[in-house]
Amino acid sequence: MYDLQRCYKLLEKISFTRVAGSIEETKAREILKDEIKKIGLRTYEEEFPIDHSEIKVAKLEVLSPYKKEYEVTGIKMTGCTSIEGIEAPLIYIENADEANLIDIEGKIVLLNGRMYNKIYKKIIEKKTAGFIALSGSIYDKKDDSDLSLMSIREADYSLGKIPGVCLRELDGQELVELGAEKVKLTLIQEESKIMSHNLITEIEGTTKKDEIIAFTAHYDSVPFSSGAYDNASGSVGIMELLHHFHENRPARTLRFIWCGAEELGLLGSKAYCMKHEEELNKFLFVLNIDMIGVTLGKEIACCTSETSLPSYINYLGKEIGVAISAKQGVYSSDSTPFADKGIPSVSFARISPNGGAEIHSRKDIISPLSPKAFDSSLKIITTFADRIVNSVCFPIERIIPNNMKEELDYYLLRKERPDKN
Ligand SMILES: [Zn+2]
Repeated sequence: MYDLQRCYKLLEKISFTRVAGSIEETKAREILKDEIKKIGLRTYEEEFPIDHSEIKVAKLEVLSPYKKEYEVTGIKMTGCTSIEGIEAPLIYIENADEANLIDIEGKIVLLNGRMYNKIYKKIIEKKTAGFIALSGSIYDKKDDSDLSLMSIREADYSLGKIPGVCLRELDGQELVELGAEKVKLTLIQEESKIMSHNLITEIEGTTKKDEIIAFTAHYDSVPFSSGAYDNASGSVGIMELLHHFHENRPARTLRFIWCGAEELGLLGSKAYCMKHEEELNKFLFVLNIDMIGVTLGKEIACCTSETSLPSYINYLGKEIGVAISAKQGVYSSDSTPFADKGIPSVSFARISPNGGAEIHSRKDIISPLSPKAFDSSLKIITTFADRIVNSVCFPIERIIPNNMKEELDYYLLRKERPDKN
């Protein structure tokens, strides 16, 4: 079975900022590797390229009707302005509805929050000169919050580049309140590729070794965050499954994958699926863990599969006394690229309530997590994994139903979700 003390010890060891492609990501991977080697199993790593950018200059000044320079961070992969910067009128585009976008050519636009592909497409089409995204909350204090380090993704910059910076939400409010009309934006960055890595190990099945079930969890974090909850917790979660199945040999082969660069757009799992395209025929199922062990929380399972799987997990929860809500859906984590290749998948998580543990900021630390909560998450996950891995006939049909295919199309930006009113 799983061992809560062992699991917590490892959690403490890897709860530090582990941004994809950084030395710290490598350090976390080495710690995970040592743990696997202690079990007596071999590991291997697979590298894949990720976007990288060094921001040299990021500056935002209001020129009229008042003068003020604001603290900003450059948004990676959005290209550069000239060294002198661009001076242009500022337009606040709220939700980027048509009515907000009537006259934005050559102007700098201010968004409500971060940049999304749907908005990026529109501002590219309208030939906008630059953009300002917002980070954090209007209630943040400068001393106890960080200005985000954002990046746009390939689906965005493949359409073209518009220089962008990120501003605190509170400062964004000030720009609108004081009616900033003309601004100057300067952004100089050097864009390149660096490497992130997936870490992999395997336990061979005793009787059905050609049938593979994968366990995945991402081990990278976002900047400024120790990523204890997101997702050191899932990384130690699948490590406990590794211990468990090493002690209780499974009928089917188990592949364990700690994915890098999930936070940059599921890049580790996407790279894995691309590299192993042919072998994926043998994959029956993928179980992903992203965010468990939080003291205040509720267990969920998001199943990209037929509806019989969430029903089964809900029944199992009742049988063993763990409250869980399993539903059909597409989870924003490493299970999704596998599901997109036709492999049914589930992501388990213990979701914190409003006002509870937060992610993607310096607030994601170890204190909101507890061994007791890990016990709840790991009890349902281990029991479920045991049943599936050793089942006489594999119970989950290898099919992705049409409604899930449609959700995958929306999530992976192949189709635009129709606007809801
Ligand atoms: Zn995560």
